[in-house]
Amino acid sequence: IRVTATRLVKETGRDLGVLIILENITQMKKLENMRRDFVSNVTHELKTPLTSIRGFIDTLKGGAIQDEVVAKRFLDIIDIEAERLHILIQDILLLSEIESKGDKETKDCDITHTISDVIELLQPKMTDKVYIIFDNNSNIRPFPCNPDRMKQLFINLLDNAIKYTEEGSVRIQCKEKQDKLFISISDTGIGIEEKYLDRIFERFYRVDKGRSRKMGGTGLGLSIVKHIVELYNGKINVYSTSGVGTTFEIWLPYGK
Ligand code: ADP
Repeated sequence: IRVTATRLVKETGRDLGVLIILENITQMKKLENMRRDFVSNVTHELKTPLTSIRGFIDTLKGGAIQDEVVAKRFLDIIDIEAERLHILIQDILLLSEIESKGDKETKDCDITHTISDVIELLQPKMTDKVYIIFDNNSNIRPFPCNPDRMKQLFINLLDNAIKYTEEGSVRIQCKEKQDKLFISISDTGIGIEEKYLDRIFERFYRVDKGRSRKMGGTGLGLSIVKHIVELYNGKINVYSTSGVGTTFEIWLPYGK
């Protein structure tokens, strides 16, 4: 609580009293801390690939360029790190766009269609050890939303499900339940320990940083998903058992 006291005096010099203002600045402080953490996380996340790129360029300039095999390997690393920077910047921009602009371009979307599109899009990332089951229910009412946002939501969730499942299945269900659109994405992958479940929607939070980086993750995927769900006044829940698999459930209300 911030306390400010001001003495009130009339023009004649007579004392009128003291004005005391008590302000609850907990929320303000919390927002300020969140903003500061975000900026420092962004800086760190951007610096890591950049430092690596500059390091490899220096080594190349220092002579490594003469060795064709080494030079090729270094250039490949630079390429990967530059791509990481690109994805990171895209995710940061997307997140701030959703936060600041909300959603103005709403139209009726065929969600099963969106899911099928995303499955096709992610096909190149699939190994033959993972298969997708989509309980396609074609009787779903169109859902009013921004198709690009909804596509992004499925890309992030399905990409994770595939990424964190070495062998097994990813099951997608989509139906209408209690005047809501219900979506569930269930995998038989590595799972998430219970103690981390509360944190996975935080920006830049990864259970295993090294693993996530190796897989090309930015740590922003689920945070973006949560923002999109909230854009449509929905709820997202996660259930997971380490070593068994993870299920994300989303409820999106039809009515405003
Ligand atoms: P990332 O880019 O690291 O995947 P996300 O925000 O998408 O970031 O996810 C945050 C963390 O949650 C991941 O680093 C991972 O540890 C965990 N996670 C997300 N989805 C799954 C999943 N389907 N199975 C296991 N762990 C997951």
